[in-house]
Amino acid sequence: MVGDLSGLDNFRVRVSIGSAGLLGLLNVKMDVYPTTIYLMSYSGSKCLMDCAFCAQARTSSCDLSRLSRIKWPVFTLKKLVSALKTRKAKYKRVCVQTTVFKGVKEYLKGLVSALPKFKPISLSVFPLRRKEIGLYRDLGVDIICFPLDAAKKEIFNKIKPGYTWESYFHALKDAVNVFGEGKVYTHLIVGLGEREKDVVSFLRKMNNLRVKVGLFAFTPVKGTKMGLNYPPNLYSYRKLQVVNYLLNKGYGEKFSIKWNKNGAIDEILVAEQEVLKEIMVGEPFKTSGCPHCNRPFYNEKPSGPLFNFPRELTSQERKEVLDILSSTIKLY
Ligand code: SF4
Repeated sequence: MVGDLSGLDNFRVRVSIGSAGLLGLLNVKMDVYPTTIYLMSYSGSKCLMDCAFCAQARTSSCDLSRLSRIKWPVFTLKKLVSALKTRKAKYKRVCVQTTVFKGVKEYLKGLVSALPKFKPISLSVFPLRRKEIGLYRDLGVDIICFPLDAAKKEIFNKIKPGYTWESYFHALKDAVNVFGEGKVYTHLIVGLGEREKDVVSFLRKMNNLRVKVGLFAFTPVKGTKMGLNYPPNLYSYRKLQVVNYLLNKGYGEKFSIKWNKNGAIDEILVAEQEVLKEIMVGEPFKTSGCPHCNRPFYNEKPSGPLFNFPRELTSQERKEVLDILSSTIKLY
């Protein structure tokens, strides 16, 4: 399909504004360039589902072109594929995010088949059956992500009506068998009413399933059901970034946590100097997720505070982050 672009004229796809700028589809002034091209399915209407935090949700009153803080203008697939080829030196991965609509599975097959395969493709999607998971792998998807978003079932049921917690777990387990370790992800949004202990327990559970976690800070979007809620506390988010980093790196045995009586982290005790050094250079505070996923300013205004740094931290930023954590992270 990629060689002959004639069938792609009527096929439309949303492209995040930063990705569109990087691909030369729009003239966009950017503080930080994305290292992944972010795409979203296009149906011309709202998603059939009703996630409480999501601008695309059925009952949200947000502009259709929004997801989180970001605008996602529409392009024809023909134009997109041509730009992906011309600008292939500018990005390292392509990520397809999915809304739910009638015919979405056919749409996704068409989209993934048409994308050039010289860069790895991530697909973030609602739970699929094992056979379907294999199909997307065969179509060239490199990493598959089923975004649970919530740290515990009670919260999941409130914020993602229409989905089931169990269906995500089935899909994640099947995906690890089909795609293999390191190729299956989920997303977790911090700040939906959970305790830090719930997040750590979720992260450990995912680690045991060999599923990696991309961490997001809840971002209130006006017009959604949660539009008046608040982002998470920055200190709390920093602690959870450290834990997620250590688990994603396979250091599950190299740290322990002291808890306070409210289920918050009092201390993170790290067993090795080398591991501590990795924390000190700022790695845990950069955007987590698939390789080369930096999602610039998805969670935050460029003016800050930056929950997820989409680039290396400056020495001043590193100092600020480490100051916040100075009495929490210790060598033992
Ligand atoms: S971690 Fe990034 S690249 Fe991977 S599925 Fe999530 S948004 Fe896409």
